[in-house]
Amino acid sequence: MTFNSKVAIVTGGSRGIGRAICLELARSGATVIVNYAGNEAAATEVIQKIEAGGGTAAAIKADVKNSDEVKNMIKEVTDQFGGVHILVNNAGVTRDNLMMRMKDSEWQDVIDINLSGVYNCTKSVIKLMLKQKYGRIINVTSVVGQIGNAGQANYSAAKAGVIGLTKSMARELASRQIRVNAVAPGYIDTDMTAQLSQDLKETIEGTVPLGRLGAPEDVAKAVAFLASDNANYITGQVLNVDGGMVMQ
Ligand code: NAP
Repeated sequence: MTFNSKVAIVTGGSRGIGRAICLELARSGATVIVNYAGNEAAATEVIQKIEAGGGTAAAIKADVKNSDEVKNMIKEVTDQFGGVHILVNNAGVTRDNLMMRMKDSEWQDVIDINLSGVYNCTKSVIKLMLKQKYGRIINVTSVVGQIGNAGQANYSAAKAGVIGLTKSMARELASRQIRVNAVAPGYIDTDMTAQLSQDLKETIEGTVPLGRLGAPEDVAKAVAFLASDNANYITGQVLNVDGGMVMQ
């Protein structure tokens, strides 16, 4: 098993892409901490599914934008499971609006959760990973952090920030063999994209070279690869999981 005796925290692990990442890491032997913001039933379902497959998992409610809650979560995981080897910064929200109509709260929420959340969680595990002499951090950014999107200035700015943070952390931690990478999903079929009309989904599909929206599992497999020893010479990279939408 690739992740035997490894402990992984997946923020926003209760639904969508995070849920698929939890299941994928657990299938490969990791003990998985399913972080969530409020949807306890969804987090419990993920735990039950992992346990039914013979894996080990626990759920912890913590708002990633709140540094105290994040510190408490890391302490709880360390006390109970002995360390944190893999951190997947996946939690994210959208508050879409054209810039001229955007409310300050819509801007701030997205920056606080999608960017400062990554800062809070990363900062809280670094000393631990240095002490363990082992750490893999994978941040979930987005293609819109690379190419922008009308109506998503807040989200694009946060996701572009995550890319900069990923590269800086990769440089800071490389000498200690702690690897930091990002995945950039395109359009993935989750609750986040559920409100898109069928027409718009078909239009998007038309712009994706591979001709379909992505599934959460497509992203989960890329995250598991980056967390594994198969990626031991990869750090500071952004791996697009977007059906070919953005080629650079
Ligand atoms: P989703 O289905 O809406 O799920 C969001 C997850 O984040 C839920 O588990 C939610 O917990 C959690 N969450 C939200 N706010 C949080 C907070 N403040 N603290 C802790 N957890 C929080 O979203 P998704 O589509 O899977 O997206 C996952 C990640 O992929 C996000 O970073 C998103 O930006 C990125 N992404 C998604 C797409 C896409 O097309 N779907 C594309 C590119 C990038 P609760 O269940 O408790 O609410």
